[in-house]
Amino acid sequence: MFKKILIANRGEIALRIQRACRELGVKAVMVYSEADRDAKYVRLADEAVCIGPAQSAQSYLNMPAIISAAEVTDAEAIHPGYGFLSENADFAERVEKSGFTFIGPTPDSIRLMGDKVSAKQAMIKAGVPCVPGSDGALPDDPAQIKRIAKSVGYPVIIKAAGGGGGRGMRVVHTEAALIHAVQTTKAEAGAAFGNPEVYMEKFLQNPRHIEIQILADTHRNAVYLGERDCSMQRRHQKVIEEAPAPGIARRLIEKIGDRCAAACKKIGYRGAGTFEFLYENGEFYFIEMNTRVQVEHPVTELITGIDIVRTQIAVAAGEKLPFTQRQIQLRGHAIECRVNAEDPYKFVPSPGRITTWHAPGGPGVRVDSHVYTNYFVPPNYDSMIGKIIVHGDTREQALARMRTALAETVVEGIKTNIPLHRELMVDASFSAGGTNIHYLEHWLSQHER
Ligand code: ADP
Repeated sequence: MFKKILIANRGEIALRIQRACRELGVKAVMVYSEADRDAKYVRLADEAVCIGPAQSAQSYLNMPAIISAAEVTDAEAIHPGYGFLSENADFAERVEKSGFTFIGPTPDSIRLMGDKVSAKQAMIKAGVPCVPGSDGALPDDPAQIKRIAKSVGYPVIIKAAGGGGGRGMRVVHTEAALIHAVQTTKAEAGAAFGNPEVYMEKFLQNPRHIEIQILADTHRNAVYLGERDCSMQRRHQKVIEEAPAPGIARRLIEKIGDRCAAACKKIGYRGAGTFEFLYENGEFYFIEMNTRVQVEHPVTELITGIDIVRTQIAVAAGEKLPFTQRQIQLRGHAIECRVNAEDPYKFVPSPGRITTWHAPGGPGVRVDSHVYTNYFVPPNYDSMIGKIIVHGDTREQALARMRTALAETVVEGIKTNIPLHRELMVDASFSAGGTNIHYLEHWLSQHER
């Protein structure tokens, strides 16, 4: 096991990784920007190094500053968390070239999965079902593009190979709009991601977002830890996640889970990862893979009893996965609400000083958050300030626990989306389970205020 790890992130995930380090008896080095200087998790760290000003480009995305922080503190490994440099293959490569262990997959795996065209081709080869569409990147010839769209069938979606965060996509309903849409998406993708390549998929009308968590070691073992349902989204951003996914037969999950684990072995994947699928009419369609720990990993931890972050660190240190697929048992139901510092209905960010923070508690309630009374939410980063996660024997019990937890939570001084979560937890359709990816947007348009 490592003696010392550098955590190249901030906020709740930095604290989450620090907690895993403590449990493992590993020293934790925090890097922080000037905006995060006073954060308690920075003070709690064994060592802390300031890596630059508030702007991410000069701090949390500053590769040389992070690597030299690892050098001066004698850290052995770097955990990138999520966001920032976590899916940057060049960073992973620089970390390893500088003699540190990158807690994540190889730069090659990150590169393969970071390009959606190559990711999809690798998945087709590994027998993972994908959304029907173009065979790789679209050609330049308009006649050929039209032919592809016709065979895929309208509506289609044009997606950037280098896209991410819900950007670089365009839905096309008719042949008349096709060529212009392809050209515009290409131009945007070139400017935003430095890669003008685009591809085409059938646009699924009412899918759910279902993802499979996997863990793999460097000894050719790979397992899946069940699924998560992340269909409650706004602007392609997840708001509520749960596990298991309501109403999907276990044998379907097992079949797709086995495929994902097999694909990991095939591409030599190591560490934690997530295969994201759209699910419609009993079929799974791969859309992308995230090669890092995800925000919503706690729901899986609660139903499996497996510490995903701890396991990430262990496999990075060369250990074997401490369990086999058959030993992974799912128990009960878990739900996560992302708590954002924002107006609950207009979604305008609401940074500032938290004058009161009263977190919920009780059986089956977990709060992953770095904030506290008198914490200042900086305006420079993502608005998520924490997550409330509950576990129950059944989905009904989990829902009841989440309602109680949200009722107990008090945040003053800034606005949060907790009022929205309170309403959604008593919504009839969400309570029934199985809402699709458009449900939340639709609900919001009906509840405009
Ligand atoms: P990103 O990397 O930007 O998150 P994804 O490929 O994961 O892009 O897609 C993000 C979201 O866009 C999906 O969760 C879904 O809501 C929508 N989407 C993507 N592809 C399709 C498709 N073929 N049909 C319908 N919706 C899609």
